[in-house]
Amino acid sequence: MANTKAYAAQSETSGVAPFGIDRREPRPDDVSIEIDYCGVCHTDIHFAENDWGMTQYPVVPGHEIVGRVTAVGSDVTGFQVGDVVGVGCMVDSCRQCSACEAGLEQYCLEGNTPTYNGEDRHDHSVTYGGYSEQVVVSERFVVKVPEKLDPAAAAPLLCAGITTYSPLRHYGVKAGDRVGVIGMGGLGHMGVKFAKALGAEVTIFTRSDSKVAEAKKQGADHVIISTDEEQMAAAAETFDVMLDTVPVQHDLNPYLNSLKFDGKHIIVGLLEPVDPALEAAALVMKRRVLAGSLIGGMPETQEVLDFCAEHDITCDIEMLDIQNINAAYERMKKGDVKYRFVIDMQTLKAA
Ligand code: ZN
Ligand code: ZN
Repeated sequence: MANTKAYAAQSETSGVAPFGIDRREPRPDDVSIEIDYCGVCHTDIHFAENDWGMTQYPVVPGHEIVGRVTAVGSDVTGFQVGDVVGVGCMVDSCRQCSACEAGLEQYCLEGNTPTYNGEDRHDHSVTYGGYSEQVVVSERFVVKVPEKLDPAAAAPLLCAGITTYSPLRHYGVKAGDRVGVIGMGGLGHMGVKFAKALGAEVTIFTRSDSKVAEAKKQGADHVIISTDEEQMAAAAETFDVMLDTVPVQHDLNPYLNSLKFDGKHIIVGLLEPVDPALEAAALVMKRRVLAGSLIGGMPETQEVLDFCAEHDITCDIEMLDIQNINAAYERMKKGDVKYRFVIDMQTLKAA
């Protein structure tokens, strides 16, 4: 008997619709959470529509979860009933490998357990995400949402936020650095906020003139139109760090040339082969680094929430009734959202 209302996709073409799921009773280290808000990530669409060929249907998407603790297992020490908490892109890992011991559970050598479309390490059930009334998660994979943060606008920090914060911290972005942010969607606009808060001078690269005003409004010091060869040539050897949020194949070479020597180009959006090919000379001749980065570990996920509270940073969001989720997916495919949809889970209760 299903004990939790949810929304699931049943096939590549079904869209996302009401579906009942079972949530387990809390294990000793578990926290039960009533979900108030869930951000909508592009990954949700990829899984709902099986773009990556790895979806197990039915799939309940959602990995930007904020809610309140309703029960805790007997061994839980870090959370109490009533705490406002978050759950991001993973809900478990082996907890013993070198990555897990370093608090970098996203890089677990055995693979982390994704919040949805993953396999529970104990009972081997399929994990279901945040488009649901409640979720049960081991406390190691739960973070505290600081009181100062608007809980709805904090939800996207758990994926879009940590994805951009972690590499900027890892590569030591500091006051006075010049940071370029490529792309201005959910990830890019968070990257701008973090780079600014770290004291960097920030340039947004965008393909279209129409986004210049918006980029400035987001706090960018400069905007470069990436399709304008003159502007790109003028930016040569300028940047310390380039945060590349573009999720589709694009030519990296002009961006590599805009890095200073020792500059770092960090990919957080692309999972496909780089095409067109890289001019390796652009790396070799200037000791430049091409890097990638995946979300962040649990300690750093807590850190990003605390950082946002301290610096008054949240995601720009548009609230969504869950009944409109399929229309929201269509708008996201067109880039028509500033900058993240967040589902008001009260609308699921009413459904
Ligand atoms: Zn995501
Ligand atoms: Zn591990």
